[in-house]
Amino acid sequence: MAPAPQRDYYEVLGVAREASADELKAAYRKLAMQHHPDRNPGDPDAERRFKEVSEAYHVLGDVERRAQYDRFGRVQPGQMPDFIDVTDMFDSVLGDLLSNFAPFGRSRKPVGRDLRVDVELTLVEAAKGVEKTVEVERQCACDKCGGRGAEPGSASDPCPACNGKGEVKYQQGIFKLARACARCEGRGVVPRTPCAKCSGVGLVKKGERLVVTFPAGVEDGTVRQVRGYGDASRMTGAAGDLELVVKILPHPLFTREGADLLCSVPVSFPQAALGGMIEVPTLEGRVKMRLPPGTQPGHQLKLRSKGMPRFGGYGAGDQIVTIQVEVPTELSETQRALVQKLAESMNEEVHPQRKTFLEKLRHLFD
Ligand SMILES: [Zn+2]
Ligand SMILES: [Zn+2]
Repeated sequence: MAPAPQRDYYEVLGVAREASADELKAAYRKLAMQHHPDRNPGDPDAERRFKEVSEAYHVLGDVERRAQYDRFGRVQPGQMPDFIDVTDMFDSVLGDLLSNFAPFGRSRKPVGRDLRVDVELTLVEAAKGVEKTVEVERQCACDKCGGRGAEPGSASDPCPACNGKGEVKYQQGIFKLARACARCEGRGVVPRTPCAKCSGVGLVKKGERLVVTFPAGVEDGTVRQVRGYGDASRMTGAAGDLELVVKILPHPLFTREGADLLCSVPVSFPQAALGGMIEVPTLEGRVKMRLPPGTQPGHQLKLRSKGMPRFGGYGAGDQIVTIQVEVPTELSETQRALVQKLAESMNEEVHPQRKTFLEKLRHLFD
């Protein structure tokens, strides 16, 4: 049964009508590689395109079918097979290009699942760099059966589900595809007596500890890949990767903005008015800073190079200190009297901002 409606096959492959067999093959090879579902996981459009170019090449790559297509603009229903074995066609055209790339679940060297583990660092650890012991539980080859899944000394039989091939073919529309056999997980054999330790799976859970160094300046969300520390594949024993995701814990005093560190320091009204030395926290401990007389709320002081080290070793960011001026919520009898006195002695002259404000007010309403 021919699929309908058909797109122009030459157009699908992007070749001229007089293209040679080699040109057709080259065009198909390029497009099939490009749209291969294994290279575009989860992209239904790529799979559709892949099937489309496969169908086009199935027709144009065959002298007789091509002649018929050129003459009638389509292939006679009887000439179109019930299915196109995409995997076989793909293999025959792409041949040795497939050493590490293969169609539909037919990965030549399947590796196990990647694992992802969060690693929590304090801000200080991130600033200085740190060595962390990471614990991970991963699927490893069973040490009793060496990953074969068979009780030591017992033989294995060819898998009855795939006749020992390790893969099964299945049909999807007119396309015939292949996937790893679910029964033997692509191994092609099943143990006669399953290993008692792993119940024939060939893999066992194993806790592992590894020491990983995080460099100074590491950022939140950074992913560190540790090759070969993921789960092992049942089929080949080859392990996937371990991905360590850096989570930087919130700090009670500092927030990070790129390489800069921000913090707020509360001072009293007399301190702000008179100025003087204040104590400021840094990642390395406390430092003294001079507060200029008449400091306004929100005023920012900068501590150069006291921020986070820049990743890659280009110095460090700054620490920005924002001054908060606190108004007392409770006053003693004596304090109240003093503030009262202060208020009386103050005229508009000593408050530049209030003076301008009052002037603007007058200007607006008088
Ligand atoms: Zn075992
Ligand atoms: Zn099988």
